[in-house]
Amino acid sequence: MCTTHALSVASAKSPFEKTTIERRALRPNDILIDIKFSGICHSDIHNAYDEWGGGMFPMVPGHEIAGIVESVGSAVTKFVVGDRVGVGCFVDSCGECEYCLKGEEQFCTKGYVGTYNSIDYDGNPTYGGYSQKIVVTERFVVRIPDSIELDVASPLLCAGITTYSPLKHWNAGPGKKVAVVGMGGLGHLAVQYAHAMGAEVTVLSQSMNKKDEAHELGADHYFATSDKATFKELANRFDLILNTVAANLDVDAYLSLLRVDGTLVNVGAPAEPDKYHVFSLIMQRRSIAGSLVGGIRETQEMLDFSAQHSIAPKIELIRADQVDEAYQRVLDSDVRYRFVIDMSTL
Ligand code: NAP
Ligand code: ZN
Repeated sequence: MCTTHALSVASAKSPFEKTTIERRALRPNDILIDIKFSGICHSDIHNAYDEWGGGMFPMVPGHEIAGIVESVGSAVTKFVVGDRVGVGCFVDSCGECEYCLKGEEQFCTKGYVGTYNSIDYDGNPTYGGYSQKIVVTERFVVRIPDSIELDVASPLLCAGITTYSPLKHWNAGPGKKVAVVGMGGLGHLAVQYAHAMGAEVTVLSQSMNKKDEAHELGADHYFATSDKATFKELANRFDLILNTVAANLDVDAYLSLLRVDGTLVNVGAPAEPDKYHVFSLIMQRRSIAGSLVGGIRETQEMLDFSAQHSIAPKIELIRADQVDEAYQRVLDSDVRYRFVIDMSTL
């Protein structure tokens, strides 16, 4: 066992407090990671505020983990002490079902073990990356390319893979018109991936405030959704719309922007159900879909792709005592574009 410092919330919406937690003794395939940086995902807020229900408290959020291997179990083959590594949203899965065998551990039929707010296969609660150490089985650890700094790498472990995976799955590429709704943590990475994959990229943001940065990140077009003329102008335009917004949108309005056979893919996860008219789908054979993060093999692929194409999140580094304030700023859409906690300040 190893005792480590962590930031936890005692109950939904309570402020963060410094605490200590225990990490399990290393099993043969385990790695002990010295966490250097932890990104703040909007999902952390949904969970810490218990907006999705089923929150397990006390909770130590964090599934955008970047650090250094501190020690390895006796059977570890993939990593050695000193390696630069990352951990994302999952820390275990059955490893045997058809989805695990395909490298899509997020769909494990036994149910994956989440990095936090989850119960592991031994029945113990999991605690996430807002802490200084974590023990993870090597199958769920990925390698961070040397050209990506650890602080910048951390948001890729969730925001990166969550946008890369659906863009690949729905074939964003040359000749495809892709819209990204919401330019936050996920959205500003989606713009970079879609551009690097060769698609024509349009950002649909609430205001014109992020226009210059959207173009710098690779967007070809930028529109404000607060301007109703946007929806008329862009009618029937896109092959793919990636919705990264944490709130319910006017789904029919966004569906109207899809061409025949176009797909609206939701990665944003509002707590309340969406509402739409079936005619919005029927008339142009459109689809609505969702996507959950991405598997471990694809997470490594995304990191290597990011290094190759110099794709990186824009981050604001914060201290451990600034997390409550950072949450409020995320809720106010006042983040450009990801808060990352420097874990040495804990
Ligand atoms: P974020 O940084 O807060 O970004 C969301 C962006 O949405 C905001 O920056 C804002 O961009 C826009 N927005 C906010 N409120 C809005 C509203 N009321 N109407 C329209 N647009 C609004 O959040 P994030 O970390 O990127 O996460 C986004 C969502 O994805 C969350 O629900 C999170 O839980 C979910 N998520 C899902 C997965 C998955 O596997 N599916 C993984 C990670 C996260 P503009 O200023 O440009 O409008
Ligand atoms: Zn996340």
